[in-house]
Order: sequence, then C-alpha cells, then structure tokens
Amino acid sequence: MSEFDYDLFVIGAGSGGVRASRVAGAYGAKVAVAEEYRVGGTCVIRGCVPKKMLVYGAHFAEDLTDARRFGWKVPDCEFVWPVLRDNVLEVVKRIEGSYGTTLANNNVQFIGERAVVTGPNSVRVGQTDYTAGKILVATGATPDVPDFPGAEFGITSNEVFELETLPKRIIIAGAGYIANEFAGIFHEFGAHVTLVNRTDVILRQYEQQIRERLLAISIAKGIEFKFHTVMEKIERQEDGTLKVYFAGGFDPVETDMVLFATGRRPNTDGLGLESAGIHLDKRGAIPVDDDSKTVCDSIYAVGDVTNRVQLTPVAIREGQAFADTIFGKKPWRVDYGCIPSAVFSNPPMAGVGLTETEANMKYGNCKTYTADFRPMKNVLADRDERALYKMIVHSETEVVLGLHMIGPDAPEILQAAAIAVKAKLTKQQFDETVALHPSMAEELVLMR
Ligand code: NDP
Repeated sequence: MSEFDYDLFVIGAGSGGVRASRVAGAYGAKVAVAEEYRVGGTCVIRGCVPKKMLVYGAHFAEDLTDARRFGWKVPDCEFVWPVLRDNVLEVVKRIEGSYGTTLANNNVQFIGERAVVTGPNSVRVGQTDYTAGKILVATGATPDVPDFPGAEFGITSNEVFELETLPKRIIIAGAGYIANEFAGIFHEFGAHVTLVNRTDVILRQYEQQIRERLLAISIAKGIEFKFHTVMEKIERQEDGTLKVYFAGGFDPVETDMVLFATGRRPNTDGLGLESAGIHLDKRGAIPVDDDSKTVCDSIYAVGDVTNRVQLTPVAIREGQAFADTIFGKKPWRVDYGCIPSAVFSNPPMAGVGLTETEANMKYGNCKTYTADFRPMKNVLADRDERALYKMIVHSETEVVLGLHMIGPDAPEILQAAAIAVKAKLTKQQFDETVALHPSMAEELVLMR
C-alpha cells in the first residue's frame, strides 16, 4: 500500500494534463486529475479546435465567390453566425466528452474543482486535503490583457467563440497568432477589422519575407493595420458602441468590439507553489528542468504554465515524456528542435527550423531558395494572391535548416516536409524527389 492517497495528482485537464493522467493511469498508477473549468483545456474548449472550425467556416466567403469563376451559379448567400457557432460548440462538447471517457477508461479519478498545492506531496480541493507521490501542474495559460481605463470592455479569445452577434467593426490588439487568425476570420465574416500593434512587425518569430507577404495580402483584402501605437483608453458610449483612444496622437476610433490578443501568461495565481519552495519566474511561469521537474523533487509541470513553447503538441509530448519516464520506466526527453508551427491566417503560414536571420547568426552566410507563385486555383479564380515558399540551406553541407511557407494549405503541406527537415535532409535530396504534378507542394522540390 502506498503511503499516499494517489501516486499522481494532476492539476489541470488540458492537453498536457490529460495525456499525462491517462498514460500514467494506463501504467497502473493511481491517478486523480482536478479541473476547475472543462476537460480539454484551452486547445479543445476555446483555442485551436473551435478556432480551426471558424477558419473553415469563414473561408466559405471567398470560396463561394471563387466558385462562380469555376462555373457554379451561386445565389446570394447569407451567413448565419449562430448556426456556425452552435455547431462548433456542439462538436467541442463532444470532444470534451470523449476526453472524459478516455480518463475514465484509464481509471483516472476526475475531480471537477480547483486544486491548489499545499506542500511537496499535498494538494487541497475545497475543504479536502489529498496526498500524492507526485504532483503534476498543467494549468496552462490565460490571456494577458493590458491594464488601462476601459480595458474591461474588451474581450479575449476566451469569449470570442460564444458571441451573441458578430461585430460590424472590430479592433484587435496585438499582431501575433491570435490577432492574425481572428483578423482573417472576422474579415471573412464581413467585419471591418483593424489590428493595432506596438511595432510594425507582425508575427515577429516567423520568417520576414513570409510575414511581410501575409501583411501585404491582408492589407489588399481590406484589413487595416495601425502600427507603433497601443490602446490607452476605451469608453462605452450610450448606444453600446466603444470609443478607443490610442497613444501617440492617433484619432480615437469607434468600434463595436475590441479583442485583446497580446499574449498569454501562465496560470499560476494562487496555486500555492511557494508551499513547496517553488518560485515563479518574472513571467509567472514555473521553472522546470529537462524532465519537466521543478526545484521540488515531487512536483513537475508541463505545457503553457512553464512558458517553454506555447503549443498544444508540445504540451502533449511533455505530458507523455513525464508519464513514460516516471510511471513507465521508459525515460525520454522532449526534443525542442525543429518544432513545426502554423498560423491559420488567411492565407495560412507555416514554418519549421531556422529563419534566414537565425541561420545566418548560427552558421554564417546560408543559402536561400524560394518559390513565389500564384496557385492554380487562384489563377482561375482571378485572385491576385501569390504563395511564397522559402528554404534556408547550410552553405557547405546543403542541409536544409529551415522551411517557411505562406499559401493555401501551407500547414497541411509543411507537416510532411518537416519530417525531412528534422531528418536533416539536403537540398539535393529534396531536388532528387520527383515532383507531384500539378500541386502546390511540388514547389518544395523545384525551388530555385
Ligand atoms: P503572441 O505572442 O503570438 O502575440 C502577441 C502580440 O501582442 C504581439 O504582436 C506582441 O507584440 C503584442 N503584445 C504583447 N504584449 C503587449 C503589450 N503589453 N501591449 C501591446 N502589445 C503587446 O500572442 P497571442 O495572444 O496571439 O497568442 C498566445 C500564444 O498562443 C502564441 O504565442 C502561441 O504560442 C499560442 N497560439 C498558437 C496558435 C497556433 O499554433 N496556430 C494559435 C493561437 C495561439 P511584440 O511582437 O512586439 O511582442
């Protein structure tokens, strides 16, 4: 008999927490997972999953227009937001249910309440104390809203999936993932979208030419960008609309909605980690080692709460590595190199490996190859939008160091190519692969 109530107590049933719980449970550990909101976490409930469905829904606006060029007689179509919204929320509920079933099938006890750490081997849920051999903190992150008068009138990605009605005008603060994805979504839904950013660089961690292509296409579509400023004040007017004031002498702008997309901060407020001697870093994240272990030997943390790489598949890997290592006696560590990522903007972007700047800093002068082309579908649709693929190659070894793309289906295409980049294949090996014609992906083996 163990001296503890549980072998593992997990706080947070998001991507990382659910993976760790169910895998540890499958290894025979006695596991409980506490969740104060809904099973599935940000990705399933109010992130990647519903967002991607909205991206699909929004894209019909252009598809229906383009369809006419392909010979289809399309009557005037009307978009009914509550239908899409409710269908999306229903799918999300179904996935949430399947996550719950998975936990139960692996004998994980689910506790639908907030838990806090009270010591190296103890947690409290409401008035009840539990002990555990190991504690895993997987509480994720939460939108970081700037603090200024009237900021409470804005919404975040937490609320955006359940809107009663769609705004006709929306101002989005930030120019990162969420800002650009929702700029595309709201624009396709017919709203006038304005992005406000403190610099003139959007999606700063992506390859410069690729992000500049997104900016140019977004402007051409009619999305407005206000650079080198931040919001200073929001006033709610009598008719319910909002008046937004900006720093730096810009005129105030009236809008129906403000969406904050200015980053996410780790969910560590009031978590009690100091009771186990764990101190947070200056972003509020939990510092961990390569095995996701904190300074306290019995407490681990995975996912966004550690602020390493804020991506769902990374949190899942960290949860899996933790459970395999601690409960499966199969130790391994997450490899943070060559993580592919994508922005589901319109058009989408995707990238893996080093950008040209990063590669040059690391290896000196690197070679670059590009394919700048108008996808066949855009040609017939008379849509003046060009795709751009860029490859960064080591000048001596010819090993591909980075691959970056913008264009239709870029994330779908990049995933397979990311295998080649991770496997350190050379430009020549790409070129020796016969092109799959006609496709956009064939450009990967035809780059000049
Ligand atoms: P991002 O970090 O992507 O972008 C934040 C944006 O807000 C940047 O433009 C940043 O400017 C700006 N900003 C940050 N702080 C301030 C501030 N105090 N005042 C004004 N502007 C500010 O964050 P998101 O909120 O868009 O997304 C959070 C994270 O969630 C992402 O980093 C990503 O890891 C994840 N995510 C992933 C998605 C995907 O995989 N497709 C989709 C959505 C989210 P600057 O560049 O100057 O710092």
